Amino acid sequence: MSGNESRLQAIYQITNREPADVEKPEPLSKIWACDVFNLAKMEESLSKNAFKAMKKTVHTGEPLDKATADILAAAMKEWAVSKGVKFYSHVFYPLTNITAEKHDGFIITNADGNAITEFSGSLLIKGEPDGSSFPNGSIRMTNAARGYTAWDPTSPVYVMYTDNGATLMIPSVFMSWTGEALDKKIPLLRSNDAMNKAGNRVLSLMGEEQIAPLNSSCGAEQEYFLVDSNFANSRPDLLLAGRTLFGAPSAKGQEFDDHYFGAISARVQVYMQDIEDQLYRLGIPAKTHHNEVAPGQFEIAPYYEAANVAADHQQLLMTILKATAKKHGFVCLLHEKPFAGINGSGKHVNWSVGNATQGNLLDPGETPHDNLNFLLFCGAVIRGVHKFGPLLRAVIASAGNDHRLGANEAPPAILSVYLGDQLEKVFQDIKDGKLTASQAAGEMDLGLSQILNFERDPGDRNRTSPFAFTGNRFEFRAVGSEQSVSGPLVAMNTMLADSLNWIADKLEVALKDSDQTKAVVSVLQELMNDHGNAVFGGDGYSSDWHKRAVEERGLKNIPSTADALPVLQEASVKELFESTGVLSPLELSSRYEVYAEQYILSLEVEAKLVVDMAKTTIYPAAVRYLSDLSMASAGMSEMGVDMDNSTAQAVASASNALMAGVSKLSEAMAKEDFASTDEHMQYFANDILSLMNEVRAYADTLETEVADELWPLPKYQEMLFIK
Ligand code: ADP
Ligand code: MG
Repeated sequence: MSGNESRLQAIYQITNREPADVEKPEPLSKIWACDVFNLAKMEESLSKNAFKAMKKTVHTGEPLDKATADILAAAMKEWAVSKGVKFYSHVFYPLTNITAEKHDGFIITNADGNAITEFSGSLLIKGEPDGSSFPNGSIRMTNAARGYTAWDPTSPVYVMYTDNGATLMIPSVFMSWTGEALDKKIPLLRSNDAMNKAGNRVLSLMGEEQIAPLNSSCGAEQEYFLVDSNFANSRPDLLLAGRTLFGAPSAKGQEFDDHYFGAISARVQVYMQDIEDQLYRLGIPAKTHHNEVAPGQFEIAPYYEAANVAADHQQLLMTILKATAKKHGFVCLLHEKPFAGINGSGKHVNWSVGNATQGNLLDPGETPHDNLNFLLFCGAVIRGVHKFGPLLRAVIASAGNDHRLGANEAPPAILSVYLGDQLEKVFQDIKDGKLTASQAAGEMDLGLSQILNFERDPGDRNRTSPFAFTGNRFEFRAVGSEQSVSGPLVAMNTMLADSLNWIADKLEVALKDSDQTKAVVSVLQELMNDHGNAVFGGDGYSSDWHKRAVEERGLKNIPSTADALPVLQEASVKELFESTGVLSPLELSSRYEVYAEQYILSLEVEAKLVVDMAKTTIYPAAVRYLSDLSMASAGMSEMGVDMDNSTAQAVASASNALMAGVSKLSEAMAKEDFASTDEHMQYFANDILSLMNEVRAYADTLETEVADELWPLPKYQEMLFIK
């Protein structure tokens, strides 16, 4: 099929599309967590003692004894087999952002050749996927490839259905034979432990007698684009790179703000409900959905959960978003910037820490100035963002996210923290050595008798801040839509642990000769003097801030991944992870290597696609148009009619420039000798990317010149507006 034919076919198929079969919605009470072997199901099927042991493991992370594991595995298998399950799989999270799984059958045969099922505690607890092909950043040589997965009992097992089967999925950690973490889950669990220990120290010093284990929480807002699969399948760039590498802007984009929070189209609504029903069955509390800023862009946000479970659920949510799109004739794009010139997608990671005895420690209550625990934890976050801002930038670094950060749309690449008016004032007072009553939030009175008055929030929202306090949590807004939330959560938990330890050390001394309030104020005063520069309530997009942040505040502006990832090699970061026990130096450097390699590889794929599409798709279309024009012109001159040849001139010169750009890019891609990984990344960030952009610019010019019927690729206006 020629390029344009596939576009016409796509439009034909979309306009003649039969609506997807809609099943009548089931009540929530019937489907909620029905495919999860959670504590409630364990209680039904386990003996009292086994259940008690299991509950303790889930709540405290205490190891499970072998006998209980066997009992549990048998109960799990029975439950799964009754649902038609024949296979089980340890699901794990390698250093790529994907979810990995290896499936094994329950089946074994006995001496008579009959099939029976088997699943012991040891099979549940430990899997051995080998997985030597996963990136490990020099932790393992392939000749020493043994890798283990081990069930994380704090994250429940569940059944995943595909069209013709069902599998028991076991959320797991993934480690090398020598015990190094090869995944994103182990560091998350360790960072939570480190934060728990440090938080416990601070709370004990504050005189708390009962202190339940502290846990971090996460609620992630996921943005995504939907494009009809008929269009997406005719765009190799969307299929292989997840973003358009070419495409002239559509005459209408997002300038009317008519998509944001607009009525959701019926087809998308059906897709969303399908997703939500699947999520509910898996015990994932999907809570909000709406249209986002860009045409074709949407958001889904589940209610927050314990960070470890939320991270697993987030991975599952991304898998389901993609898989379900197929069924509805869409392709779901999770890339941070699928379309140039309109908003990209992020993932706001809402994060707080708390426990069963003190509650949410980032909740200021009505009077933050006399909530000392809150002030200490909030101060610890401020110190963390200031001291480890570049680390926070490094954990959200990817080729995709570079298109948002540093560009004028998403939070800037400078890490500052927004507190809101009320809290900013409290911390400013503390810096001045005093603690005075907080400004009241006040009542919202519109003066309309129909509208009831309500309590206003004590601080406004700031959409331009990468790291914002939003009432009872921090919202890390700069995370990319395609990224795992684990990296950001690990960084936040670990920097918090470090700051809480610093606070505990200081408090121990200060409490010796002053009362509690005075001691807290003096510790926080020192903290604000050293780290208050990270607090910023103004417009994070303004060029004035970009200048002042760097020149006056000493904050770092790190626009690209090539500049951000080397932060993982810095001594202070190594020290942070080693002292908190979250990542050994080897584990940390392996992450640097893997992420750098992924950055280079993804740009390499994009560059190859640019060359390929320009040569084999775009240039031929331009030549065809030139041939049409020249034939017309020859015919005209035979008839003695003058024809303006400016279009032919424009097309010819853009085509020549396009191919010259392609040659330069191909040549640049051939370079192989790099002194270091850093240099290799810089080369891609600067030379290769700008050559790609150059080729694109000529191709996009051609798109606006060449006859529409000859244009081979679905256009922005089609992909964004035809649903
Ligand atoms: P908005 O778009 O206004 O920022 P949403 O309601 O879309 O807010 O998403 C906010 C997210 O923050 C939800 O996932 C919500 O459950 C989560 N959240 C609320 N409170 C907390 C908390 N204490 N800790 C972590 N996440 C939270
Ligand atoms: Mg938000």
